[in-house]
Amino acid sequence: MIVPRRDRGHRLDGHPSVIGIRGVCLQRARLATAVPELPDVERFRVFFALHAAGRAVRGVEALDPAIVRNATPDALENALRGHRFQEPGRHGKWMLAGTDGPTLLLHFGMTGDLIWSGDEPERHRHDRLILHLAEGELRYRDLRRFGGAWLAFDAADVATVTGPLGPDALDVTREEFLRRLERRRGGVKAALMDQSLVAGVGNLIADEVLWQARLHPRTRIQVLDAAARRSLFETLHGVLRRAVDHVDSLERERRWLNSVRGLPGATCPRCRTPLERTVAAGRTTYFCPACQPAPPGPPG
Ligand SMILES: [Zn+2]
Repeated sequence: MIVPRRDRGHRLDGHPSVIGIRGVCLQRARLATAVPELPDVERFRVFFALHAAGRAVRGVEALDPAIVRNATPDALENALRGHRFQEPGRHGKWMLAGTDGPTLLLHFGMTGDLIWSGDEPERHRHDRLILHLAEGELRYRDLRRFGGAWLAFDAADVATVTGPLGPDALDVTREEFLRRLERRRGGVKAALMDQSLVAGVGNLIADEVLWQARLHPRTRIQVLDAAARRSLFETLHGVLRRAVDHVDSLERERRWLNSVRGLPGATCPRCRTPLERTVAAGRTTYFCPACQPAPPGPPG
């Protein structure tokens, strides 16, 4: 998890005694208030697997019927009840909870979360969907309701729900990434955040990758030579790998842009130049004007 330091006051847990699988905190799925990106979804996936994989669905309760986006709550429950969850999958920002029958898709929007009743017995008013399992209930909580739950019976349904997605940004091979980049034009930040190029990169990861790769966010893809493209892939992969494997330590990673991103008067962790803020790919963007000089020519 990488979050601006100002968000740290909202941390929900992080107590070292509950750090478990691969450094993932097992008591709560969500660590902070940042918008979920691929590493956060991986965390939700591990949390879901811990509590639901191999378990049969006893019931599904939509406390907020509108949170089930492509079926009625009754249809969702009728489809899932009696089926057993398998190891869930991740595709970018989507979590795919397959069963021996249909698949439940979860998207965490801006504020989605998973809660296990054993950790938090009381329900919360933002709990939207309850999965009843023999050992307890797994709750999907979402304050702002930009996320939701979808039902899919096959791969075609999944594709309809997710829309066109490139390969998962952590699973994509270098060859595939470079091949997809080859066809791409325009700004590099927009490309990284385009879910149809690779899936899972959001605003924070994109800024981190570009800072680490020393690329201005509006650098046009077509001016990147082969070495720069390979470096972009290696940096993307490295940032995601570390964010997934060391999720609980990342916000204390002082050498990363995200350790200071958004703080007043923040300077570059590498060269101490004051960071600048701009808009790229329609999103607030932080970068170091010394490490990431603006490219020549028209902006991408
Ligand atoms: Zn710098």
